[in-house]
Amino acid sequence: MKNKELVREDKRGAAYLNKRIIDSAPMSIITIDKNGVITFVNKYYKDISKSKFPLNKSIFKIPFFIREKLCPYYKKLLAEGAPFEKNNCCSDNRSKYLNIVAVPLFDENGNIEGALSMATDVTEAATAKLELGRINNSLKEKVSKKNQELQKTNEKLNKSLKLKSQFISDASHELRTPLSIAKLNLEFFKKQFPCDKKNALEILSAVENEINRVADILSDITFFTAIDEASVEKMELEKIKLNKFIENTSGRIKSLADQKRIKISFKKNKSNPIIEGDKIKLERLLLNIIGNSIKYGKKSGWVKIWTELDSKNKSVKINILDNGIGIEKKDLDRIFDRFYRTSFARNDGEGGFGLGLAICKWIVDQHNGTITVKSTAGRGSVFTITLPTGIDLSHN
Ligand code: ADP
Repeated sequence: MKNKELVREDKRGAAYLNKRIIDSAPMSIITIDKNGVITFVNKYYKDISKSKFPLNKSIFKIPFFIREKLCPYYKKLLAEGAPFEKNNCCSDNRSKYLNIVAVPLFDENGNIEGALSMATDVTEAATAKLELGRINNSLKEKVSKKNQELQKTNEKLNKSLKLKSQFISDASHELRTPLSIAKLNLEFFKKQFPCDKKNALEILSAVENEINRVADILSDITFFTAIDEASVEKMELEKIKLNKFIENTSGRIKSLADQKRIKISFKKNKSNPIIEGDKIKLERLLLNIIGNSIKYGKKSGWVKIWTELDSKNKSVKINILDNGIGIEKKDLDRIFDRFYRTSFARNDGEGGFGLGLAICKWIVDQHNGTITVKSTAGRGSVFTITLPTGIDLSHN
């Protein structure tokens, strides 16, 4: 009798001890029966689970198991005895990450009677990993952004280098002609020497003309290289009130127009359009276009300038119309090329070196705008510059 009591006490003691051990285990432990119904939970499970009375509930109905898509694994485990491991499951309040290991429980006959499922808290490691991933991603983003920026700068530099070498080859070609003429004249002079004063002066002034031409070309080239280099630099943007700006700029060229008795008129726009742009560059642009209208204008002719705002105030058109000599159709596509001159300009003393409109096109491009021309030979031309009212220079 005494012995029996001892055994019973001993069993109670062992059960109590088992429960204490399982409750103090630093992980959540549950057992389920063959149908997935919870038969035991330890203290840790109660602490991290939302459910106050988890016993006798089916895990297939508990949100945690459903949300973490664990049900199929438990079903397979209960049906086939296949143990599984599932990492980084998120607890109900999302504050914990759990790694789950579940194994089958067998009865004395070796049949599956349920399963034992254990979950360890890996929150620290998981959040550190997540944070690392986040830092990694943001670093990746920053590096790729920097790479893109570098690529853009590279492209810009390459473009500018290409333009420069093209420019140097065009310029040397252009300089060769006056230099050859001057050289031929000097050779002729040498052969003729000593010749009479009149002849000598004629040859020397022909040489002087060619030297002047070289000097003019060089000054245009210097300007072009300066603005070409500036293309890699920033633009000096400011708000420009177009009415005042065009009035002032066209006023500056009036004396040139007066020499040919050409009348420049500017019709102010009632909406008083304002654009954002580089004042010095835009001034050069207008002076070039109006200057051409005078250069290629007929005596006592006229130049009319007016602006138009688009319906959404997003861009503005500046039109410069003249009743000058006009441009032949075959030349229209090429007049914005560097060093391109129409045969008229080439043969007439008025012509420049074909750099003016290339400079204009460059300035308009820098402002994300466009420049177009319509012309009828013998009747006149209209140049239209379209500029955005606000500029985004990010792609330049
Ligand atoms: P240029 O220094 O020769 O004037 P531009 O680049 O300014 O060079 O112009 C290129 C050519 O376009 C000129 O040579 C000229 O033949 C033609 N052109 C430009 N503007 C006009 C205009 N308003 N009327 C007629 N021809 C023009």
